[in-house]
Amino acid sequence: MRSIKIMVALMLLGLSCTAEASAAPRKNRDYYEARGEVVWEVPGKKKVIALTFDDGPDPKDTPRILDLLKQHHARATFFVIGSKAGKHTDLLRREMEEGHEIANHTFTHHFFNNSFTAERIHNEIAKTQEVIYTVTGQRPTLFRPPGGMFDEAVLRIARQEGLKTIMWSWHQDTRDWSRPGVGYIVNKVLKNVHNGDIILLHDYVSGQSQTVKALEKILPELNNRGYEFVTVSELLSGAKNMVPSMK
Ligand SMILES: [Zn+2]
Repeated sequence: MRSIKIMVALMLLGLSCTAEASAAPRKNRDYYEARGEVVWEVPGKKKVIALTFDDGPDPKDTPRILDLLKQHHARATFFVIGSKAGKHTDLLRREMEEGHEIANHTFTHHFFNNSFTAERIHNEIAKTQEVIYTVTGQRPTLFRPPGGMFDEAVLRIARQEGLKTIMWSWHQDTRDWSRPGVGYIVNKVLKNVHNGDIILLHDYVSGQSQTVKALEKILPELNNRGYEFVTVSELLSGAKNMVPSMK
């Protein structure tokens, strides 16, 4: 069962930082998307975008990103790592107080490979839920597995914890974690933007991040084009009023 690995599809597209997948996929994005088990984007008529920031909170970049979001009246979703959230509780609280959504990105950010037992997966997810609840008084409802790696067991355990699994728009993978250049990140977003996109960014990267400088260009430009920045949960709830692009 654990061999069902959708991240292989991501690897084939070269769009993910996952580097450990090898098994052939038996179930692909279409399968999970049609069942509503996993969300990559929510296409529709409304000019809304969900910015997502993974791997924080971190004292270096998270405050600067929060400042920029505030300046541009943008709300976003932070997929936080539980161990960091427990250390930087002030940042977690600030994210919540400024209207952003806090979501679960596991406790240690180990990629879920075949060596993970169900118990270990559960611990990674449940401990993070606990930390976030203790600090903010709110339980996240969204989950993103590290590197986008999941299988049936990961989805089931996340669901048991009350979490919906969220990926990101493949045409919007900025690869900002690899520091490809501010211009690359900016162009990737601005040239490919569609209503209902879920954009993957990071508020922690190893080394000097280019994400903040990219956001300084992306936020005002998308505002000028009339886009509203919403949380992923808002994007999902607004989906009721949207016209799906495919059905
Ligand atoms: Zn991550």
